[in-house]
Amino acid sequence: MSNLLEHARESRYGFFINNQFIDASSRNSLTSINPANGQPWYEISDANEQDIEHAVNAARQALTKPDWADITQTSRGKFLRRIGDLIGEHGERLAEIETRDNGKLIREMQAQMASLPETYYYYAGMADKITGETIPVNKSNVFNFTLREPVGVVGIIVPWNSPLYLLSNALAPSLAVGNTVVIKPAENTSASALEFAALIREAGLPPGVVNVVTGLGETAGEALSRHPGMNKIAFTGGTDTGRKVATNAAANLVPCTMELGGKSPHVVFEDADPERAANGIVAGVFAAGGQTCIAGSRCFLQETIYDHVLKNLGEKAENVIIGDPMNNATQLGPLALKEQMEKVMSYIDIGISDGGVIHSGGKRSIDHGRDRGFYVEPTVFTDVTNDMRIARDEIFGPVVAVMPFKDESDLIDKANDTIYGLAAGIWTQDIDRAMRFAKKIDAGTVWINTYRSASFMSPFGGFKQSGYGKHNGYEGIREFSRLKNVVVDYSGKSQDPFIMKLK
Ligand code: NAD
Repeated sequence: MSNLLEHARESRYGFFINNQFIDASSRNSLTSINPANGQPWYEISDANEQDIEHAVNAARQALTKPDWADITQTSRGKFLRRIGDLIGEHGERLAEIETRDNGKLIREMQAQMASLPETYYYYAGMADKITGETIPVNKSNVFNFTLREPVGVVGIIVPWNSPLYLLSNALAPSLAVGNTVVIKPAENTSASALEFAALIREAGLPPGVVNVVTGLGETAGEALSRHPGMNKIAFTGGTDTGRKVATNAAANLVPCTMELGGKSPHVVFEDADPERAANGIVAGVFAAGGQTCIAGSRCFLQETIYDHVLKNLGEKAENVIIGDPMNNATQLGPLALKEQMEKVMSYIDIGISDGGVIHSGGKRSIDHGRDRGFYVEPTVFTDVTNDMRIARDEIFGPVVAVMPFKDESDLIDKANDTIYGLAAGIWTQDIDRAMRFAKKIDAGTVWINTYRSASFMSPFGGFKQSGYGKHNGYEGIREFSRLKNVVVDYSGKSQDPFIMKLK
């Protein structure tokens, strides 16, 4: 296993700054635990303000150095292409690191690594197609145009559930535009970002363009988000943390993208294909142990098919194969952290005490030595009302609250009755109804007869307390660039010095 962590020294990592692995300024460290067996397997350094200062300075300096600032857009694209190639070559290793860190299925992490090069190729192709506009203005002999420029230094703070995938959604467009970055991965899943940083160096990016600092959110993340040297923060994580990060950044008027939590409605109408719909619900909330921001954790079934779909869903939940995430037959691995497992179990207790009824699951899964890891059974709750905490709070675990609805208007009211607005899904054969739902639902992504289907080519981001700003697609380029207006007067005439030139 040790060759997984190529850049750790005696199972401990430093930071990656200016293309070097360097020691932290203090000896404070944090231990990463494999959630499948509860065993520690490496340590990361816990950055303090001095370390963050060092990383931000490196990024600021790299921003204006000719080896990055003055290269052609096509050259930037070539760097991105090379990064994509290197992820392809090291994908198996990176996937295994992530599974050992966050407990998600090795098949899922391999699929993410297999698709990740495409993200870099996509933005590689875009790097030399980023254009401004020529805009006519009501003045003769004036040429007026816009330039799309890098914003500057981008701070990328990401959670543990899909570390490199989420990081890349912000990193690839940032590099395509010509920014420099400081990355702060989650404290329990930092190894893949550090190993990936070494690939970035191998791809030939100049020192300081990409830097990785690790450590606790409340210290390292906080210091990064409040640093006046930042020009943009791309934050992915919980809504409460996002609020703190946005507040810190606002003190310096630094703009953010906020990719936050969700409590997504997943709807089945009576005319849906029941088998496909039940599979969709399973995919929406039990895949990845429900540890996805887009989890379809509020499931609305039309009254007329409620019993039938619930029975099908319950059977599927009971037959989910729980086990070691490294095993290809496993369908549900452990939750990423002991604290996460405890949080999920406490929500199951809250659901029961609030009057919910467990239709299936509801316990930790402890057979076959799983008691050493952080496993929870796929859990289906019935008798839930929309005001209960299990229907309102993001649980981030394999727990679905099933609720009946009468008709379309009843559904829309219930589905939109949430502080979140990240995603929504609907199963129906009636295209008119599906389109009405898509229009009326307050969610950044709407899936019709599918769920958890994502693409780096298409904008992603939530509404309401699920955040703001978009990653992916051309929107990624807009988010990580700034627009400058340039006005050229070629009249040769001098102007009235005391009046603004409006004509
Ligand atoms: P989290 O908010 O606890 O942590 C996310 C990151 O923020 C980590 O790197 C953490 O160290 C850092 N952090 C924590 N406190 C901080 C602070 N005060 N200042 C700066 N940084 C700080 O989230 P988590 O538990 O790691 O991840 C789960 C959450 O992420 C869920 O709410 C989930 O919905 C959300 N998420 C959202 C998306 C999306 O695209 N919308 C994607 C994945 C996960």
